[in-house]
Amino acid sequence: MISSTLPLGIVDELQGPEVSMLLSFFDRWIGDRVLKLDDCPEYCAPFLERAPSAIRRLLAKLHLKAILHPDRVTLSLWAMDSGRAVLPEEFRRLIGKLEERSLVPNLYDFQAVTDATIEALQECTVALFGDLFDPAAVRSIHGLPTVPFLTDWSTDIDVSFQGGGTQINYSDPYRWLHLPAHRQAYERTCPRPGRVPHYHRLFCLVDLPHEFVHCLQALAGLKEPRPSFYSWMTEHDASVLALSLLSAVARRETAKGPTTRLFPLEGTYEEALMEMVATTVGLDATMTGPQQAGFAMWRDSCGLQPPDCFPLAGESVTALAGVASAHFKWRLAVEGGRDSDAGLDEELRTLFAQPARWAPETCGSTTLAALHYGPEHRTLEGWARPVGLARATELGRQWE
Ligand SMILES: [Zn+2]
Repeated sequence: MISSTLPLGIVDELQGPEVSMLLSFFDRWIGDRVLKLDDCPEYCAPFLERAPSAIRRLLAKLHLKAILHPDRVTLSLWAMDSGRAVLPEEFRRLIGKLEERSLVPNLYDFQAVTDATIEALQECTVALFGDLFDPAAVRSIHGLPTVPFLTDWSTDIDVSFQGGGTQINYSDPYRWLHLPAHRQAYERTCPRPGRVPHYHRLFCLVDLPHEFVHCLQALAGLKEPRPSFYSWMTEHDASVLALSLLSAVARRETAKGPTTRLFPLEGTYEEALMEMVATTVGLDATMTGPQQAGFAMWRDSCGLQPPDCFPLAGESVTALAGVASAHFKWRLAVEGGRDSDAGLDEELRTLFAQPARWAPETCGSTTLAALHYGPEHRTLEGWARPVGLARATELGRQWE
């Protein structure tokens, strides 16, 4: 029996974003003690490029250090006090302790994350699209906690984000995890059951921009040609724009300084992006053939054709709000995200150009196809490809 010498009590002093970043970092380690940078998928690269300085500081708090092997692409974890590699059992205890900490009520402050995200989205929208939207109306968009219906049929809605008018509702898992049906609903799109608050906070950063677009759609008075209970056209547009908007927000936050209220550690944005893409890649592997075909039809018609793997709009709320529905929106966000103001500008102005956007003959046109297949876009397959030796060696330099 090995007695751990790691000062795990320090984990109890870590803040939410610190716990989250360590969990996200260690999830990329294999065999309990090694990070192979060359095996990491592309979606990890932005995080591994941006976060090392914050991670090094956090490891030092725990008296740990990541050491780069002579191959220049492998990291192992060392206990500074005893001058040796961390043992697998110690590594597992550390992860367990971090997970335990993440479940401490209100470690992640969801109202604060929601407020900071909405404020950053408002700033960005007013700066870039002040000619399209009334700045005062944009600034009136605000976040409120969801008040759940707490019925069997409503659990998927109770745990999700909802945006419309000038209001965005967010769900706080710390309040509802004790209810079995709600826990199940949260866990349905959570890669590791038992870590709901951790993932919910990261997904917040991607889901809130999606809901923010729904508010912009309401402010612009967008009316669909075929109004339905659950609109796949407005969902398409909110999904395509979500990560492009978040990327624009991230560029503005980075310009303010290495850390901000929204991104309290270097690499917080990249962490959210990494987990969102990783989750989407994981969920994609569970989709059936008809679901894949339904997604392609919805995407390629720019939302005009609802995915036919679902019941007709209005028939079944819970079926529509299920895993496949969440996956479709995330996949479109992940593949439609553009990393430049010019790209966001093109997407948003095309999608908000009425009535052309809603005319059936426009869907499938070159302009709209460019929203999915431009040079800035990355497919899920592209995101999931390993970074390779050259890129890994570059990433390894930060750990020399
Ligand atoms: Zn939506």
